[in-house]
Amino acid sequence: MHITVLITTILAFTAQLHAAEKLYPSPPNQSVVQNEIGKYRHIVGSRPGREGGFRIEVEIINSKTVVHNYGHGGYGVTLSPGSAIESIRLVEEKLNDKSKAIVIGAGVNGLSIAYMLAKRNIDVEIITKDTYPNIVSGVAAALWNPYDISSSDEKTSQRLYQIQTDSLDWFGGLVNESSWGVRPVELFVPTERLLVSEVHFFLPFEQTPIKWHKTLPIEGFSIGGYQASTLFIDTSMYMPKLMDELKKMHIKVTQRELKSLPDFVKTLDDDSIVFNASGLGAKWLTADDAVYPIRGDLCIFDDQKISPKLKNDYILMWGERPDYMFTRVSNEQQQGQFIFGGVYEAGDDSRDIKSHYCERTLKSYLDFVKSASTE
Ligand SMILES: Cc1cc2nc3c(=O)[nH]c(=O)nc-3n(C[C@H](O)[C@H](O)[C@H](O)COP(=O)(O)OP(=O)(O)OC[C@H]3O[C@@H](n4cnc5c(N)ncnc54)[C@H](O)[C@@H]3O)c2cc1C
Repeated sequence: MHITVLITTILAFTAQLHAAEKLYPSPPNQSVVQNEIGKYRHIVGSRPGREGGFRIEVEIINSKTVVHNYGHGGYGVTLSPGSAIESIRLVEEKLNDKSKAIVIGAGVNGLSIAYMLAKRNIDVEIITKDTYPNIVSGVAAALWNPYDISSSDEKTSQRLYQIQTDSLDWFGGLVNESSWGVRPVELFVPTERLLVSEVHFFLPFEQTPIKWHKTLPIEGFSIGGYQASTLFIDTSMYMPKLMDELKKMHIKVTQRELKSLPDFVKTLDDDSIVFNASGLGAKWLTADDAVYPIRGDLCIFDDQKISPKLKNDYILMWGERPDYMFTRVSNEQQQGQFIFGGVYEAGDDSRDIKSHYCERTLKSYLDFVKSASTE
C-alpha cells in the first residue's frame, strides 16, 4: 500500500469511527489486576539506545564491507523496514547474484534485512547469539512510535523522513494480511499533561488528526483526553511470521556469539557483505561507546477472557512516564492478554525480574482508572 493510500485509509477509518461516535468498552477488569498482582508474567528487555541516534553506515573492516544497522532504542520495530531498505541501498552496487550476505542478529532489524535480501534471491545466512523470543524484539509491544527521530541538519532529516516513510509504507502493505499482526489501532491519551506534540510521537506523521474529547468515548470514563489512529505491530505474530517466511526461503540461521567483528570478517570471502544488526551487542562487537541499554518491562496477564469488543481495540496511555495498556488476542494460540508497560530505564542493563517495576505500573493503572471514572 502506498503511503498516501495508507494515510487516506487511516483518515477514513478515523472519520468513520468518529462519525459513529463509537463508545469503546471499559479497559481490562480492574479486579483481575487488583487480585492477581503477583500472578502476572513479568518480562524484561534491553532496548539498544545510542547517543546521537541509530547507526546505518558502511564501514570497510579488513577489506570487507560491513553495513551497520543498530541503536534504534525504543523505536526499533517501528523503523525496522525502512532501516533495512536504507542498509541495502547503501551497498546496492555491490550486490549481485554472486554476493553472499551475512546478517549478524536475528532481532527485528536483522530479520528484516535478511527477508528483503532473500526476496531478491541473494544468498543470505543469519548468525546470531539468540533468537526470538529471547531477545528485545520479542519483548516489544510494538506501537508505532518514531519518537525522537529528528535532526537540525536538512540532509539527515530527509534521510530520517525517508526511513520513516518506507517503514510506514511497508507496514501499511501488511495491514490487510492478518497473519503478520499489523493493524490500525486507536490511541487514547487521557491526560492534559501530555502535549499534542508528544502525542504526535506515536502517530504516523504530523498530518494524522488528533481529536480532543471533553469526555473520552470509553465506557465508565468521565475525563477528557486525546484520541488518534495509529499502527500496532504485534511482535508475538510479526517476529514468528518473519522467521517462518525466512525458513520457507531456506535461509540458514546459525546460533553463535561473535566475539570480534574484525576477526570474524577475516574468515569471509572477499565478495561477502556483512550486515551488523546486533542491537545492544554492537556496543561490544563494534566497540561503540555511544550504545547504551534502556531497560523495559512488560507485565502480562495471560489467559484472560477478553471481551470481543475490546479485542485489539485501543491502547491507553496515561501519566507522565507515560504508562500504557493494551490487549492482545490476535495470536490464535493465546486466549488473550492484558499487557501493561511503561518502564524506560536508560543505562540499566539488568534483565532480572525487579518486581517493583510491575507493581509501580499496575498501581499507577489502578489509580488512573479510579480517577478517570470518578472525576
Ligand atoms: C518493553 C519494551 C517495549 C517496546 N516497545 C516498542 C514499541 O512500542 N515500538 C517500537 O518500535 N519498539 C519498541 N521497543 C524497542 C524494540 O524492542 C527495539 O528497538 C528493537 O527490538 C531492536 O531490534 P534489534 O533487531 O535492533 O535488536 P535485538 O532484538 O536486540 O536483536 C539483536 C540481535 O543480535 C544478536 N547479537 C547481539 N550480539 C551478538 C553477537 N556478539 N554475536 C552474534 N549475535 C549477536 C542478538 O542475539 C539478537 O538476535 C520496545 C522495547 C521494550 C523492551
